[in-house]
Amino acid sequence: MARYTGPVCRLCRREGQKLFLKGERCYSEKCSMGRRAYAPGQHGQGRKKTSEYGLQLRAKQRARRYYGVNESQFHHYFEIAERKTGVTGENLLRILESRLDNVVYRAGFASSRVEARQIVGHGHFEVNGKRVDIASYLLKAGDVITICEKSRASEKIKAVLEANAGRPVPQWLDANAESFSVKVVNLPERDAIDAPIEEQLIVEFYSK
Ligand code: SF4
Repeated sequence: MARYTGPVCRLCRREGQKLFLKGERCYSEKCSMGRRAYAPGQHGQGRKKTSEYGLQLRAKQRARRYYGVNESQFHHYFEIAERKTGVTGENLLRILESRLDNVVYRAGFASSRVEARQIVGHGHFEVNGKRVDIASYLLKAGDVITICEKSRASEKIKAVLEANAGRPVPQWLDANAESFSVKVVNLPERDAIDAPIEEQLIVEFYSK
């Protein structure tokens, strides 16, 4: 599936929830969800989809958009989650959280997952000392992600780090500002994942 290139605030309005896709703007008064918290389009303020299938579909789309993952990749993650032991929905969330772009964002090295994906793609990060430029790279407990030494002097990286310095980092990550690194202490349990996702509905969607 092609990458979505339309207005991203529209995605939040469609899902009826802030998905934090635009960095700083999402935390400001400019956020569209404050001014137009209804679905986009001509029937946005009237139409309500409440069928069981509709709820399951929206839950899947919301998760996909929140993490910026395309349809086939998301389905692939679901298949991996199903094969693992444990609760499938929680396994799925853990896989999504372990993506390199997500960890870069969660650690405060980017102001959104979109920006994280971009700077990872530009080769600014190393994992365990080796350069990795694949945003979907899945991390494991113990992995250490570092901003490449050369990139630390970049104005862009400096500005991003400054803008995100105050953002809380989840407990499953150990961020170290002095060494420009973050360690994945462990992959998170469900209660440590702050995401507006109803994973059980996603499992039901794919179980049809
Ligand atoms: Fe969503 Fe951010 Fe746009 Fe608000 S500003 S609608 S949270 S993408």
